[in-house]
Amino acid sequence: MIGLRDQSVRDAIDLNDARARHRWNIPHDYSVVADCLLRHQERADDPCLIFEDEQERVQRWSWGQMLEAVNRFANALRALGVRRGDIVAIYLPQRPENAIAHFAAYRLGALSLPISKLFAPDAVRYRLSHVKAKVFVAEAEVAERFADVLKGLPDLAAFVVVDGEDPRTSFDGLMAKGSSSFAADRPPMSEDPFLLMFTSGTTGDPKAVVHHARALIAHNGGDYILNFFRPGDLYFSSADWAWVGGLADGLLAIWPFGVPILASNARFDPERTLRMVERHSATCGLYAPTALKRLRELPEVRERFRDLRLRCVFSGGESVSPELRRWAQEELGSELNVGYGQTEANYLIGTCRALEPAPAEALGKAIPGHDVRIVDEDGVPLPVGATGNIALHKSDPVLMAGYFNNPQAFAERFAGDWYLTGDTGWADEQGYLYFKGRIDDVIKTSGYRVGPGEIEAAIIAVPGVSSCAVIGVPDDRVGESIKAFIKVMPDILPSPDLTARIQEHVRSVLAVHEYPREIEYVDEMPTTVTGKIRRRDLREMEIKRRADRA
Ligand code: ATP
Ligand code: MG
Repeated sequence: MIGLRDQSVRDAIDLNDARARHRWNIPHDYSVVADCLLRHQERADDPCLIFEDEQERVQRWSWGQMLEAVNRFANALRALGVRRGDIVAIYLPQRPENAIAHFAAYRLGALSLPISKLFAPDAVRYRLSHVKAKVFVAEAEVAERFADVLKGLPDLAAFVVVDGEDPRTSFDGLMAKGSSSFAADRPPMSEDPFLLMFTSGTTGDPKAVVHHARALIAHNGGDYILNFFRPGDLYFSSADWAWVGGLADGLLAIWPFGVPILASNARFDPERTLRMVERHSATCGLYAPTALKRLRELPEVRERFRDLRLRCVFSGGESVSPELRRWAQEELGSELNVGYGQTEANYLIGTCRALEPAPAEALGKAIPGHDVRIVDEDGVPLPVGATGNIALHKSDPVLMAGYFNNPQAFAERFAGDWYLTGDTGWADEQGYLYFKGRIDDVIKTSGYRVGPGEIEAAIIAVPGVSSCAVIGVPDDRVGESIKAFIKVMPDILPSPDLTARIQEHVRSVLAVHEYPREIEYVDEMPTTVTGKIRRRDLREMEIKRRADRA
Protein backbone atom coordinates (compact mmCIF):
# COMPACT_ATOMS: atom_id res chain seq x y z
CA MET A 1 0.00 0.00 0.00
CA ILE A 2 1.57 3.31 -0.89
CA GLY A 3 -0.87 5.96 0.10
CA LEU A 4 -4.44 7.06 0.22
CA ARG A 5 -4.43 8.31 -3.33
CA ASP A 6 -3.87 4.77 -4.53
CA GLN A 7 -5.98 2.95 -2.04
CA SER A 8 -8.60 5.29 -0.79
CA VAL A 9 -9.66 4.67 2.78
CA ARG A 10 -13.05 6.06 1.83
CA ASP A 11 -13.97 2.50 1.03
CA ALA A 12 -12.31 0.96 4.07
CA ILE A 13 -14.84 -0.42 6.50
CA ASP A 14 -12.71 0.06 9.56
CA LEU A 15 -10.34 3.00 9.56
CA ASN A 16 -8.64 1.90 12.75
CA ASP A 17 -7.89 -1.38 11.07
CA ALA A 18 -6.52 0.52 8.07
CA ARG A 19 -4.34 2.48 10.47
CA ALA A 20 -3.04 -0.64 12.15
CA ARG A 21 -2.25 -2.47 8.94
CA HIS A 22 -0.86 0.37 6.87
CA ARG A 23 2.72 -0.19 5.71
CA TRP A 24 4.62 2.31 3.59
CA ASN A 25 6.07 0.85 0.47
CA ILE A 26 7.57 3.76 -1.39
CA PRO A 27 8.99 3.05 -4.84
CA HIS A 28 12.72 3.78 -4.82
CA ASP A 29 12.25 5.80 -8.02
CA TYR A 30 9.39 7.89 -6.66
CA SER A 31 9.34 11.28 -8.38
CA VAL A 32 7.52 14.43 -7.33
CA VAL A 33 7.16 15.59 -10.95
CA ALA A 34 5.72 12.24 -11.99
CA ASP A 35 3.29 12.20 -9.06
CA CYS A 36 2.09 15.77 -9.52
CA LEU A 37 2.24 16.28 -13.29
CA LEU A 38 3.22 13.32 -15.48
CA ARG A 39 0.48 11.10 -14.10
CA HIS A 40 -2.19 13.46 -15.41
CA GLN A 41 -0.92 13.75 -18.97
CA GLU A 42 -3.46 11.34 -20.39
CA ARG A 43 -5.99 14.13 -19.74
CA ALA A 44 -3.63 16.89 -20.74
CA ASP A 45 -6.38 19.36 -21.62
CA ASP A 46 -8.06 19.33 -18.23
CA PRO A 47 -7.37 22.31 -15.97
CA CYS A 48 -4.70 22.15 -13.27
CA LEU A 49 -4.46 25.84 -12.37
CA ILE A 50 -6.87 28.76 -12.53
CA PHE A 51 -5.07 31.98 -11.79
CA GLU A 52 -6.84 35.23 -11.01
CA ASP A 53 -4.67 38.35 -10.77
CA GLU A 54 -5.24 41.53 -8.81
CA GLN A 55 -7.32 43.00 -11.65
CA GLU A 56 -9.48 39.84 -11.66
CA ARG A 57 -8.08 38.73 -15.02
CA VAL A 58 -8.14 34.96 -15.28
CA GLN A 59 -5.61 32.53 -16.81
CA ARG A 60 -6.41 28.84 -17.18
CA TRP A 61 -3.62 26.30 -17.33
CA SER A 62 -4.05 22.68 -18.36
CA TRP A 63 -1.91 19.75 -17.18
CA GLY A 64 -0.32 19.65 -20.63
CA GLN A 65 0.53 23.36 -20.70
CA MET A 66 1.95 23.20 -17.20
CA LEU A 67 4.26 20.30 -18.01
CA GLU A 68 5.47 21.99 -21.16
CA ALA A 69 6.26 25.22 -19.28
CA VAL A 70 8.03 23.23 -16.55
CA ASN A 71 10.18 21.46 -19.13
CA ARG A 72 11.06 24.71 -20.85
CA PHE A 73 12.01 26.44 -17.63
CA ALA A 74 13.98 23.41 -16.43
CA ASN A 75 16.02 23.59 -19.62
CA ALA A 76 16.44 27.34 -19.12
CA LEU A 77 17.69 26.82 -15.57
CA ARG A 78 20.08 24.18 -16.83
CA ALA A 79 21.43 26.67 -19.36
CA LEU A 80 22.00 29.07 -16.44
CA GLY A 81 24.20 26.44 -14.82
CA VAL A 82 21.74 24.90 -12.35
CA ARG A 83 22.65 21.30 -11.52
CA ARG A 84 21.47 18.55 -9.18
CA GLY A 85 21.62 19.68 -5.55
CA ASP A 86 21.66 23.42 -6.37
CA ILE A 87 19.12 25.72 -4.77
CA VAL A 88 16.56 27.80 -6.66
CA ALA A 89 15.03 30.51 -4.45
CA ILE A 90 11.52 31.56 -5.39
CA TYR A 91 10.26 34.91 -4.15
CA LEU A 92 6.85 35.07 -5.77
CA PRO A 93 3.21 35.29 -4.75
CA GLN A 94 0.75 32.64 -5.88
CA ARG A 95 1.03 32.76 -9.67
CA PRO A 96 1.76 30.24 -12.45
CA GLU A 97 5.48 31.11 -12.66
CA ASN A 98 5.82 30.19 -8.98
CA ALA A 99 4.56 26.63 -9.59
CA ILE A 100 6.58 26.35 -12.80
CA ALA A 101 9.80 27.37 -11.05
CA HIS A 102 9.33 24.78 -8.28
CA PHE A 103 8.69 21.91 -10.65
CA ALA A 104 11.47 22.98 -13.01
CA ALA A 105 13.88 22.76 -10.07
CA TYR A 106 12.59 19.27 -9.22
CA ARG A 107 13.00 18.23 -12.86
CA LEU A 108 16.71 19.00 -12.54
CA GLY A 109 17.17 17.40 -9.15
CA ALA A 110 17.71 20.89 -7.73
CA LEU A 111 15.99 22.05 -4.53
CA SER A 112 13.45 24.82 -4.48
CA LEU A 113 13.41 27.32 -1.64
CA PRO A 114 10.20 29.34 -1.38
CA ILE A 115 10.57 32.73 0.31
CA SER A 116 7.53 34.77 1.29
CA LYS A 117 7.13 38.11 -0.45
CA LEU A 118 6.47 39.60 2.94
CA PHE A 119 10.18 39.44 3.69
CA ALA A 120 12.23 42.60 3.16
CA PRO A 121 15.43 42.49 1.08
CA ASP A 122 17.78 41.99 4.04
CA ALA A 123 15.82 39.00 5.31
CA VAL A 124 15.85 37.54 1.79
CA ARG A 125 19.57 38.13 1.47
CA TYR A 126 20.15 36.33 4.76
CA ARG A 127 18.22 33.31 3.51
CA LEU A 128 19.93 33.23 0.13
CA SER A 129 23.40 33.42 1.62
CA HIS A 130 22.54 30.93 4.39
CA VAL A 131 21.69 28.22 1.87
CA LYS A 132 24.02 29.44 -0.93
CA ALA A 133 21.19 29.78 -3.46
CA LYS A 134 22.18 29.57 -7.13
CA VAL A 135 19.20 31.32 -8.70
CA PHE A 136 16.73 33.90 -7.42
CA VAL A 137 13.33 34.21 -9.12
CA ALA A 138 11.32 37.35 -8.36
CA GLU A 139 8.99 39.87 -9.99
CA ALA A 140 10.10 42.92 -11.97
CA GLU A 141 8.46 45.24 -9.44
CA VAL A 142 11.02 44.25 -6.81
CA ALA A 143 14.01 43.90 -9.15
CA GLU A 144 15.33 47.36 -8.55
CA ARG A 145 15.03 47.10 -4.79
CA PHE A 146 16.89 43.81 -4.85
CA ALA A 147 19.59 44.47 -7.42
CA ASP A 148 22.03 45.96 -4.89
CA VAL A 149 21.09 43.64 -2.09
CA LEU A 150 21.95 40.62 -4.18
CA LYS A 151 25.33 41.91 -5.20
CA GLY A 152 28.14 40.22 -3.40
CA LEU A 153 26.43 36.84 -3.02
CA PRO A 154 29.19 34.69 -4.57
CA ASP A 155 27.01 31.63 -5.12
CA LEU A 156 24.18 33.44 -6.85
CA ALA A 157 24.54 32.84 -10.59
CA ALA A 158 21.32 34.36 -11.89
CA PHE A 159 18.37 36.60 -11.06
CA VAL A 160 15.34 35.59 -13.13
CA VAL A 161 12.79 38.39 -13.44
CA VAL A 162 9.13 37.51 -13.81
CA ASP A 163 7.39 40.15 -16.00
CA GLY A 164 10.86 41.46 -16.85
CA GLU A 165 11.57 43.17 -20.15
CA ASP A 166 15.10 41.97 -20.86
CA PRO A 167 14.75 38.60 -22.67
CA ARG A 168 18.15 37.52 -21.32
CA THR A 169 16.92 37.58 -17.73
CA SER A 170 13.13 37.55 -17.97
CA PHE A 171 11.20 34.42 -17.05
CA ASP A 172 9.33 34.38 -20.37
CA GLY A 173 12.42 35.18 -22.40
CA LEU A 174 14.40 32.36 -20.84
CA MET A 175 11.50 29.97 -21.12
CA ALA A 176 11.01 30.74 -24.81
CA LYS A 177 14.57 29.56 -25.43
CA GLY A 178 14.18 26.30 -23.49
CA SER A 179 13.15 23.14 -25.31
CA SER A 180 9.73 21.70 -24.48
CA SER A 181 11.12 18.22 -23.93
CA PHE A 182 13.32 17.39 -21.01
CA ALA A 183 15.95 14.71 -20.49
CA ALA A 184 17.05 14.10 -16.90
CA ASP A 185 20.69 13.45 -15.97
CA ARG A 186 19.58 10.29 -14.17
CA PRO A 187 16.35 8.65 -13.00
CA PRO A 188 14.73 10.21 -9.92
CA MET A 189 15.00 8.60 -6.49
CA SER A 190 12.68 8.79 -3.52
CA GLU A 191 15.59 9.86 -1.31
CA ASP A 192 16.51 12.84 -3.51
CA PRO A 193 16.28 16.11 -1.56
CA PHE A 194 13.82 18.41 -3.32
CA LEU A 195 12.52 21.10 -1.02
CA LEU A 196 13.89 23.56 1.50
CA MET A 197 11.36 25.34 3.62
CA PHE A 198 11.64 27.70 6.56
CA THR A 199 9.42 27.18 9.62
CA SER A 200 7.11 30.01 10.68
CA GLY A 201 9.34 31.35 13.45
CA THR A 202 6.58 31.28 16.05
CA THR A 203 8.85 30.28 18.92
CA GLY A 204 12.22 31.60 17.74
CA ASP A 205 14.22 32.09 14.58
CA PRO A 206 12.80 30.19 11.60
CA LYS A 207 14.62 26.94 10.86
CA ALA A 208 15.36 25.68 7.33
CA VAL A 209 13.95 22.20 6.83
CA VAL A 210 15.14 19.83 4.08
CA HIS A 211 12.68 17.32 2.65
CA HIS A 212 13.31 14.27 0.53
CA ALA A 213 10.95 13.46 -2.34
CA ARG A 214 9.43 10.58 -0.36
CA ALA A 215 7.96 13.07 2.10
CA LEU A 216 5.43 14.04 -0.55
CA ILE A 217 4.01 10.61 -1.10
CA ALA A 218 3.59 10.30 2.66
CA HIS A 219 1.96 13.69 2.68
CA ASN A 220 -1.33 12.03 2.00
CA GLY A 221 -3.61 13.58 4.58
CA GLY A 222 -5.32 16.09 2.33
CA ASP A 223 -7.61 13.41 1.03
CA TYR A 224 -8.68 12.49 4.54
CA ILE A 225 -9.14 15.94 6.07
CA LEU A 226 -10.96 17.24 2.99
CA ASN A 227 -13.37 14.33 3.17
CA PHE A 228 -11.95 12.76 0.02
CA PHE A 229 -11.42 14.50 -3.28
CA ARG A 230 -14.07 14.04 -5.91
CA PRO A 231 -14.69 15.09 -9.51
CA GLY A 232 -15.52 18.77 -9.79
CA ASP A 233 -13.36 19.78 -6.84
CA LEU A 234 -11.45 23.07 -7.00
CA TYR A 235 -8.96 23.84 -4.23
CA PHE A 236 -8.21 27.32 -2.94
CA SER A 237 -6.15 28.56 -0.03
CA SER A 238 -4.91 32.05 0.59
CA ALA A 239 -1.89 30.52 2.37
CA ASP A 240 1.29 31.77 0.75
CA TRP A 241 3.10 29.14 -1.32
CA ALA A 242 6.15 29.94 0.78
CA TRP A 243 4.96 27.93 3.78
CA VAL A 244 4.19 24.32 4.43
CA GLY A 245 0.45 25.01 4.58
CA GLY A 246 0.44 26.80 1.25
CA LEU A 247 3.06 24.96 -0.77
CA ALA A 248 3.31 21.44 0.56
CA ASP A 249 -0.34 21.10 1.64
CA GLY A 250 -1.82 23.40 -0.95
CA LEU A 251 -0.01 22.79 -4.20
CA LEU A 252 2.31 19.81 -4.03
CA ALA A 253 0.00 17.56 -2.04
CA ILE A 254 -3.12 18.46 -4.03
CA TRP A 255 -1.96 17.94 -7.59
CA PRO A 256 -1.21 14.22 -7.17
CA PHE A 257 -4.95 13.78 -6.72
CA GLY A 258 -5.60 15.54 -10.03
CA VAL A 259 -7.53 18.34 -8.34
CA PRO A 260 -7.16 21.78 -9.96
CA ILE A 261 -6.04 24.74 -7.88
CA LEU A 262 -7.38 28.27 -7.82
CA ALA A 263 -4.54 30.73 -7.20
CA SER A 264 -4.48 34.47 -6.63
CA ASN A 265 -1.73 37.02 -6.12
CA ALA A 266 -4.09 39.51 -4.46
CA ARG A 267 -3.61 40.18 -0.78
CA PHE A 268 -6.03 38.39 1.51
CA ASP A 269 -9.04 40.60 2.03
CA PRO A 270 -12.03 38.86 3.63
CA GLU A 271 -14.73 40.28 1.36
CA ARG A 272 -12.74 40.20 -1.84
CA THR A 273 -11.22 36.78 -1.26
CA LEU A 274 -14.55 35.21 -0.43
CA ARG A 275 -16.11 36.79 -3.55
CA MET A 276 -13.38 35.15 -5.62
CA VAL A 277 -13.96 31.79 -3.97
CA GLU A 278 -17.65 32.21 -4.77
CA ARG A 279 -17.05 33.35 -8.37
CA HIS A 280 -14.98 30.29 -9.21
CA SER A 281 -17.07 27.82 -7.18
CA ALA A 282 -14.06 26.60 -5.22
CA THR A 283 -15.10 23.56 -3.20
CA CYS A 284 -12.29 22.92 -0.72
CA GLY A 285 -9.11 24.33 0.76
CA LEU A 286 -7.06 25.33 3.76
CA TYR A 287 -8.27 28.32 5.75
CA ALA A 288 -5.82 29.19 8.54
CA PRO A 289 -7.42 30.15 11.86
CA THR A 290 -6.40 33.79 11.34
CA ALA A 291 -8.12 33.83 7.94
CA LEU A 292 -11.26 32.24 9.39
CA LYS A 293 -11.33 34.79 12.20
CA ARG A 294 -11.13 37.63 9.72
CA LEU A 295 -13.86 36.10 7.55
CA ARG A 296 -15.94 35.72 10.69
CA GLU A 297 -15.82 39.49 11.15
CA LEU A 298 -17.80 39.92 7.90
CA PRO A 299 -21.52 40.60 8.36
CA GLU A 300 -24.18 38.18 7.13
CA VAL A 301 -21.96 35.88 5.12
CA ARG A 302 -24.66 33.27 4.53
CA GLU A 303 -27.12 35.82 3.10
CA ARG A 304 -24.61 37.79 1.06
CA PHE A 305 -22.57 34.89 -0.41
CA ARG A 306 -25.35 32.66 -1.62
CA ASP A 307 -23.35 31.06 -4.42
CA LEU A 308 -20.55 29.68 -2.26
CA ARG A 309 -19.94 26.02 -3.11
CA LEU A 310 -17.50 25.10 -0.35
CA ARG A 311 -18.17 21.52 0.67
CA CYS A 312 -15.21 20.95 3.02
CA VAL A 313 -12.37 23.10 4.27
CA PHE A 314 -9.68 22.45 6.82
CA SER A 315 -7.79 24.61 9.23
CA GLY A 316 -4.61 24.22 11.25
CA GLY A 317 -1.21 25.63 12.03
CA GLU A 318 -2.68 26.95 15.27
CA SER A 319 -5.51 25.78 17.50
CA VAL A 320 -8.84 25.64 15.71
CA SER A 321 -11.64 26.31 18.16
CA PRO A 322 -15.05 24.62 17.99
CA GLU A 323 -16.54 28.11 17.54
CA LEU A 324 -14.71 28.50 14.23
CA ARG A 325 -16.12 25.19 13.12
CA ARG A 326 -19.64 26.19 14.09
CA TRP A 327 -19.21 29.43 12.17
CA ALA A 328 -17.84 27.70 9.03
CA GLN A 329 -20.69 25.24 9.08
CA GLU A 330 -23.42 27.83 9.55
CA GLU A 331 -22.08 30.74 7.53
CA LEU A 332 -19.83 29.21 4.86
CA GLY A 333 -22.04 26.15 4.65
CA SER A 334 -18.93 23.99 4.74
CA GLU A 335 -17.70 21.10 6.81
CA LEU A 336 -14.56 22.18 8.70
CA ASN A 337 -11.89 19.69 9.62
CA VAL A 338 -8.76 20.14 11.65
CA GLY A 339 -5.29 19.29 10.38
CA TYR A 340 -2.20 19.12 12.55
CA GLY A 341 1.39 19.00 11.39
CA GLN A 342 4.49 21.09 11.05
CA THR A 343 7.06 22.09 8.44
CA GLU A 344 9.19 19.21 9.68
CA ALA A 345 6.44 16.58 9.27
CA ASN A 346 3.02 17.15 7.82
CA TYR A 347 0.16 16.28 8.18
CA LEU A 348 0.07 13.82 11.05
CA ILE A 349 -3.29 14.24 12.73
CA GLY A 350 -6.64 15.38 11.48
CA THR A 351 -10.36 14.96 11.50
CA CYS A 352 -12.58 13.62 8.78
CA ARG A 353 -15.87 14.32 10.46
CA ALA A 354 -18.01 12.77 7.80
CA LEU A 355 -16.32 9.46 8.51
CA GLU A 356 -15.26 9.70 12.15
CA PRO A 357 -17.19 12.25 14.22
CA ALA A 358 -14.39 13.51 16.48
CA PRO A 359 -15.08 15.21 19.82
CA ALA A 360 -15.29 19.00 19.43
CA GLU A 361 -11.96 19.80 21.07
CA ALA A 362 -9.92 16.98 19.50
CA LEU A 363 -7.21 17.46 16.89
CA GLY A 364 -8.47 14.23 15.40
CA LYS A 365 -6.81 10.86 14.99
CA ALA A 366 -3.48 9.98 13.48
CA ILE A 367 -3.94 10.14 9.72
CA PRO A 368 -3.84 6.57 8.37
CA GLY A 369 -0.25 5.65 7.64
CA HIS A 370 1.24 7.69 10.47
CA ASP A 371 2.15 6.34 13.88
CA VAL A 372 1.60 9.25 16.26
CA ARG A 373 1.84 8.73 20.00
CA ILE A 374 2.10 10.63 23.24
CA VAL A 375 5.52 9.89 24.75
CA ASP A 376 7.58 11.09 27.71
CA GLU A 377 10.96 12.83 27.54
CA ASP A 378 12.72 9.49 27.05
CA GLY A 379 10.49 8.45 24.20
CA VAL A 380 8.40 6.00 26.23
CA PRO A 381 4.74 5.93 25.11
CA LEU A 382 2.38 7.18 27.83
CA PRO A 383 -1.00 5.75 28.83
CA VAL A 384 -4.37 7.14 27.74
CA GLY A 385 -5.10 10.52 29.31
CA ALA A 386 -1.50 11.37 30.27
CA THR A 387 -0.06 14.61 28.91
CA GLY A 388 3.25 14.34 27.09
CA ASN A 389 5.05 15.05 23.83
CA ILE A 390 3.19 14.58 20.58
CA ALA A 391 5.60 12.27 18.75
CA LEU A 392 5.94 10.57 15.39
CA HIS A 393 7.67 7.26 14.77
CA LYS A 394 11.15 8.00 13.49
CA SER A 395 10.68 5.71 10.48
CA ASP A 396 7.82 7.80 9.08
CA PRO A 397 8.61 8.79 5.48
CA VAL A 398 6.90 12.15 5.90
CA LEU A 399 9.53 13.26 8.39
CA MET A 400 12.07 15.83 7.22
CA ALA A 401 15.50 14.70 6.10
CA GLY A 402 16.95 17.21 8.55
CA TYR A 403 17.52 20.86 9.34
CA PHE A 404 19.73 22.48 6.74
CA ASN A 405 23.38 22.17 7.80
CA ASN A 406 22.38 21.54 11.39
CA PRO A 407 22.56 17.83 12.22
CA GLN A 408 22.73 18.59 15.91
CA ALA A 409 19.39 20.42 16.00
CA PHE A 410 17.92 17.46 14.08
CA ALA A 411 19.37 14.87 16.47
CA GLU A 412 17.97 16.76 19.45
CA ARG A 413 14.43 16.20 18.20
CA PHE A 414 14.57 12.43 18.83
CA ALA A 415 14.01 10.34 21.94
CA GLY A 416 14.20 6.57 21.53
CA ASP A 417 12.21 5.57 18.46
CA TRP A 418 10.30 8.83 18.38
CA TYR A 419 10.60 12.22 16.76
CA LEU A 420 9.33 14.85 19.20
CA THR A 421 7.25 17.60 17.61
CA GLY A 422 7.84 20.14 20.40
CA ASP A 423 4.10 20.14 21.09
CA THR A 424 2.30 18.58 24.02
CA GLY A 425 -0.98 16.75 24.08
CA TRP A 426 -2.84 13.67 25.23
CA ALA A 427 -4.89 10.82 23.78
CA ASP A 428 -8.27 9.38 24.74
CA GLU A 429 -9.43 5.77 24.68
CA GLN A 430 -10.67 5.95 21.09
CA GLY A 431 -7.33 7.20 19.81
CA TYR A 432 -8.36 10.84 19.45
CA LEU A 433 -5.50 13.20 20.15
CA TYR A 434 -5.79 16.55 21.91
CA PHE A 435 -3.43 19.51 21.64
CA LYS A 436 -2.29 21.06 24.90
CA GLY A 437 0.18 23.60 23.55
CA ARG A 438 3.67 24.19 22.29
CA ILE A 439 6.06 23.28 25.08
CA ASP A 440 7.04 26.97 25.40
CA ASP A 441 3.44 28.16 25.58
CA VAL A 442 2.14 25.85 28.31
CA ILE A 443 1.17 27.87 31.38
CA LYS A 444 2.11 26.61 34.83
CA THR A 445 -0.47 27.93 37.27
CA SER A 446 -1.29 26.76 40.83
CA GLY A 447 0.48 23.47 40.13
CA TYR A 448 -1.51 22.84 36.93
CA ARG A 449 -0.22 22.83 33.37
CA VAL A 450 -2.67 24.67 31.17
CA GLY A 451 -2.62 24.97 27.38
CA PRO A 452 -3.60 28.40 26.08
CA GLY A 453 -5.65 26.88 23.25
CA GLU A 454 -8.56 25.65 25.35
CA ILE A 455 -8.91 28.99 27.13
CA GLU A 456 -8.72 30.86 23.84
CA ALA A 457 -11.39 28.54 22.41
CA ALA A 458 -13.68 29.36 25.33
CA ILE A 459 -13.11 33.10 25.02
CA ILE A 460 -13.71 33.30 21.28
CA ALA A 461 -17.12 31.72 21.81
CA VAL A 462 -18.24 34.81 23.75
CA PRO A 463 -20.27 37.07 21.42
CA GLY A 464 -18.28 40.15 20.45
CA VAL A 465 -14.84 38.50 20.54
CA SER A 466 -12.97 38.25 17.25
CA SER A 467 -9.70 36.67 18.37
CA CYS A 468 -7.58 36.24 21.46
CA ALA A 469 -4.22 35.09 22.78
CA VAL A 470 -3.65 33.69 26.25
CA ILE A 471 -0.31 33.66 28.08
CA GLY A 472 1.03 33.05 31.57
CA VAL A 473 2.47 36.09 33.35
CA PRO A 474 4.78 35.80 36.36
CA ASP A 475 2.82 35.73 39.62
CA ASP A 476 4.37 35.18 43.05
CA ARG A 477 1.34 33.36 44.43
CA VAL A 478 0.45 30.91 41.69
CA GLY A 479 3.64 30.73 39.58
CA GLU A 480 1.99 32.14 36.50
CA SER A 481 -1.39 33.78 36.30
CA ILE A 482 -3.45 33.77 33.15
CA LYS A 483 -3.75 36.84 31.00
CA ALA A 484 -5.82 37.17 27.82
CA PHE A 485 -5.25 39.65 25.01
CA ILE A 486 -8.50 40.16 23.15
CA LYS A 487 -9.49 41.74 19.86
CA VAL A 488 -13.20 42.54 19.64
CA MET A 489 -15.47 42.46 16.59
CA PRO A 490 -15.52 45.66 14.46
CA ASP A 491 -18.87 46.85 15.86
CA ILE A 492 -18.11 46.14 19.53
CA LEU A 493 -16.56 48.36 22.20
CA PRO A 494 -14.57 46.79 25.03
CA SER A 495 -16.19 47.33 28.42
CA PRO A 496 -15.94 46.11 32.03
CA ASP A 497 -19.20 44.31 31.36
CA LEU A 498 -17.65 42.36 28.45
CA THR A 499 -14.63 41.53 30.62
CA ALA A 500 -16.91 40.18 33.35
CA ARG A 501 -18.88 38.13 30.82
CA ILE A 502 -15.70 36.62 29.39
CA GLN A 503 -14.34 35.72 32.81
CA GLU A 504 -17.64 34.26 33.88
CA HIS A 505 -17.93 32.21 30.69
CA VAL A 506 -14.45 30.70 31.04
CA ARG A 507 -15.13 29.89 34.68
CA SER A 508 -18.35 28.14 33.74
CA VAL A 509 -16.99 26.00 30.89
CA LEU A 510 -13.44 25.33 32.15
CA ALA A 511 -11.84 24.83 35.52
CA VAL A 512 -11.67 27.74 37.99
CA HIS A 513 -7.88 27.92 37.75
CA GLU A 514 -8.16 28.49 34.00
CA TYR A 515 -10.02 31.77 34.00
CA PRO A 516 -8.06 34.83 32.85
CA ARG A 517 -7.45 37.06 35.85
CA GLU A 518 -6.33 39.83 33.59
CA ILE A 519 -7.79 40.90 30.23
CA GLU A 520 -6.32 43.49 27.89
CA TYR A 521 -8.03 44.66 24.71
CA VAL A 522 -5.81 45.16 21.69
CA ASP A 523 -6.35 46.32 18.11
CA GLU A 524 -3.97 43.77 16.61
CA MET A 525 -2.09 40.69 17.74
CA PRO A 526 1.64 40.24 17.12
CA THR A 527 1.87 37.59 14.42
CA THR A 528 4.40 35.75 12.30
CA VAL A 529 4.39 36.39 8.56
CA THR A 530 2.24 33.29 8.29
CA GLY A 531 -0.34 35.01 10.49
CA LYS A 532 0.21 32.95 13.63
CA ILE A 533 -0.06 34.64 17.00
CA ARG A 534 3.36 35.11 18.62
CA ARG A 535 2.59 34.52 22.28
CA ARG A 536 6.31 34.78 22.93
CA ASP A 537 6.20 38.49 21.99
CA LEU A 538 3.30 39.04 24.38
CA ARG A 539 5.17 37.25 27.18
CA GLU A 540 8.29 39.33 26.57
CA MET A 541 6.21 42.52 26.52
CA GLU A 542 4.64 41.60 29.87
CA ILE A 543 8.00 40.79 31.44
CA LYS A 544 9.38 44.11 30.25
CA ARG A 545 6.35 46.01 31.53
CA ARG A 546 6.76 44.38 34.91
CA ALA A 547 10.46 45.22 35.01
CA ASP A 548 9.68 48.84 34.06
CA ARG A 549 7.12 49.05 36.85
CA ALA A 550 9.45 47.58 39.47
P1 ATP B 1 8.82 27.66 14.60
O1 ATP B 1 9.07 26.20 14.60
O2 ATP B 1 9.78 28.41 13.74
O3 ATP B 1 8.67 28.27 15.97
P2 ATP B 1 6.12 27.01 13.79
O4 ATP B 1 6.27 25.82 14.67
O5 ATP B 1 4.89 27.83 13.99
O6 ATP B 1 7.39 27.96 13.90
P3 ATP B 1 5.23 25.62 11.49
O7 ATP B 1 6.02 24.43 11.12
O8 ATP B 1 4.65 26.48 10.42
O9 ATP B 1 6.19 26.57 12.29
O10 ATP B 1 4.04 25.22 12.44
C1 ATP B 1 3.90 23.98 13.07
C2 ATP B 1 3.33 24.13 14.45
O11 ATP B 1 2.04 24.75 14.40
C3 ATP B 1 3.11 22.83 15.17
O12 ATP B 1 4.28 22.31 15.73
C4 ATP B 1 2.08 23.22 16.22
O13 ATP B 1 2.68 23.89 17.32
C5 ATP B 1 1.23 24.24 15.47
N1 ATP B 1 0.02 23.58 14.90
C6 ATP B 1 -0.11 23.03 13.69
N2 ATP B 1 -1.36 22.55 13.50
C7 ATP B 1 -2.04 22.80 14.64
C8 ATP B 1 -3.37 22.56 15.09
N3 ATP B 1 -4.29 21.99 14.31
N4 ATP B 1 -3.69 22.94 16.34
C9 ATP B 1 -2.80 23.55 17.14
N5 ATP B 1 -1.54 23.83 16.77
C10 ATP B 1 -1.15 23.46 15.54
MG1 MG C 1 7.91 24.56 14.98
